Amino acid sequence: MQSTLRRTWAEIDLDALEYNYKTIREKIGKDVKFLGVVKADAYGHGAIQVSKLLQESGADYLAVSSIDEAIELRENDITMPVLILGHTPKEQVKNLIDYNITQAVTCEAKALEYSKEAQDIGKVLKVHIKVDTGMSRLGYLCDGDHFTTGVDGICHACSLPGLDAEGIFTHFAVSDEFGEENDDYTMNQFKLFTDIINEVEKQGNIKFKIRHCANTGAVARFPDTYLDMVRPGLLLYGYGEFANKMGLKPVMALKTTVSTIKTYEAGTKISYGGIYVTDKRTRMGVLPYGYADGFFRSLSNKYKLMSAEGPVELRGKICMDMCMVDLTDKYKVDVGSEIEVFGPKNPIEEMAAIAETIPYELTCAVSKRVPRLYERDGEIIEKELMLRA
Ligand SMILES: *Cc1c(COP(=O)(O)O)cnc(C)c1O
Repeated sequence: MQSTLRRTWAEIDLDALEYNYKTIREKIGKDVKFLGVVKADAYGHGAIQVSKLLQESGADYLAVSSIDEAIELRENDITMPVLILGHTPKEQVKNLIDYNITQAVTCEAKALEYSKEAQDIGKVLKVHIKVDTGMSRLGYLCDGDHFTTGVDGICHACSLPGLDAEGIFTHFAVSDEFGEENDDYTMNQFKLFTDIINEVEKQGNIKFKIRHCANTGAVARFPDTYLDMVRPGLLLYGYGEFANKMGLKPVMALKTTVSTIKTYEAGTKISYGGIYVTDKRTRMGVLPYGYADGFFRSLSNKYKLMSAEGPVELRGKICMDMCMVDLTDKYKVDVGSEIEVFGPKNPIEEMAAIAETIPYELTCAVSKRVPRLYERDGEIIEKELMLRA
């Protein structure tokens, strides 16, 4: 590894990603398509590399949240279908079509706009209709009194010139939460979704090629919801209790190094605000990893990182570019030694629990100044520092 990288870096294990992909594939069976969610730079792992691996491995679809993310993939040899889950301004319809990107249609107003723009340039935009069955975010409202207007709206969108409704989808709000109430909620969302599809297909005399709704929680727990395609994100990256239960592997390991070691007498205040005071003679390491790298400052004084000699405790406030750890009695840990922030030896789920958040937020937070090192067959195949992009 180049010396410039021996600061803080993220190792992205593409073998683990491939293993996770294949394991999920086996679970869903060969008749169900696989969409890999690679929005937000593949949850911080690097959308280009992750997408390349999924494309090579035979995945069917990718999903991102914006047109910029979609175009980034197209400009990096990703030719497989890409769906934009979120909003795209109507001015971008030409780009969507030219780059062969599929767009979610979430309401009547957008259906009309997209249809008009596509007609103006004499082309057809591929779309997936988004149905709101209980997430209360994007999508055609369809519950209760909205059922009829929902069906009418979707039928209308499907009939508009310039739009090709290839698919229809919805999103589950609590499929990853346990308890009867949550299970019922998910099942009600699913029933509403299939009711809507049946009614639209009947009234509109159409047949959707791809019906999809299963996110991570549903892929793990509700095989009845797979329909034509599943849509996992977190599961693919190998985090969370469902990934653990399925024996999937965490794809990212975030590592840093000891840059400096100093020894302080008892009674020394450490870092900003002096919230930690040494209670003994303390051998303290400085790590070049701070909140500008994505380390949540709320973890100050609370978290343990992993050294070759076991856990080392954070001491004092996390700074922008550095943090301090107690290396007393860890005599083999020296300047230059590797420290794992999270990864196979220090599960991200525990870090998330202490930070009162979810693994999603932690991998997304790994900032762009942290280089990504991509490993394939045990070797580093590519380094990517996004700051230079
Ligand atoms: C992010 C997202 C997913 C993936 O969610 P996971 O919980 O990571 O599996 C699936 N569908 C939609 C619409 C999303 O926004």
